Amino acid sequence: MNRSSSTDAIVLSLRPLGENNSSVTLLTPEAGLVYAVLYGGPKSRMRSLVAQWNSGKVWLYENPEKNQIKISDFEVSNYHTSFSQNLFKSYAASLAAELAIKTRCGGSSQQCFRLLSGFFDGMELCDEEQSRVGLIRFLWRYLELLGIQPVSHACSSCGKTFFDTQFAPNAVSYYNSMENSFICPDCAGHLPGENMLSVKNNAVQYLSALTVLSPSEARKLTIDEEIYGQIRQLVFFLIENSIDQKLNSIETGMGIL
Ligand SMILES: [Zn+2]
Repeated sequence: MNRSSSTDAIVLSLRPLGENNSSVTLLTPEAGLVYAVLYGGPKSRMRSLVAQWNSGKVWLYENPEKNQIKISDFEVSNYHTSFSQNLFKSYAASLAAELAIKTRCGGSSQQCFRLLSGFFDGMELCDEEQSRVGLIRFLWRYLELLGIQPVSHACSSCGKTFFDTQFAPNAVSYYNSMENSFICPDCAGHLPGENMLSVKNNAVQYLSALTVLSPSEARKLTIDEEIYGQIRQLVFFLIENSIDQKLNSIETGMGIL
């Protein structure tokens, strides 16, 4: 194996290691999470490059005797500087990083890297309001990566699509947590209400559209405050129930995220 290598990477976290060094968690498309050591104190050039949320190209050196990977250089392509100036953005990035770490990239480092870089780069270009909807889109896509995104294009009971024009614009559909699926306004009437979360039909349509649209097309869709609130509640419920561990960023970020 080649001892020196380079790869695309996002810096997810840094922890002090001894007096002058840091232990760095990187997300890479090929190897997923990489834990590497950064040598040098706070004033070193590398410390300003290898900072949290920076993404770019990293050069790694593997030392088999020490069983250690060292960061030898980092070429930053995006500093994501707005994250440190906005509390929501910084918590949203922490949530994405925690998900990637706790789910071990959801089983696909390539897709996990693509989702996180797309989310981070998109958020850097957006204001807080747009970033809030961006977080919902990211989490919905992450559910797909985890293989637990509910089918949202059609009613699981009768098969009617949620875009069916016969539904009233404000019709209410339901999310059924027992079956991890959606039920249309027509079927909801004859089903018991347990394990059901009501969501407006427009909200299911939005989620359904996200599944088929490209990220740039999806960014153009607009939703009002009420639909955003419903989708947010549903997506956070699904994410929190999808992994056995508590997500610290959601707990500490309560009221911010
Ligand atoms: Zn139905």
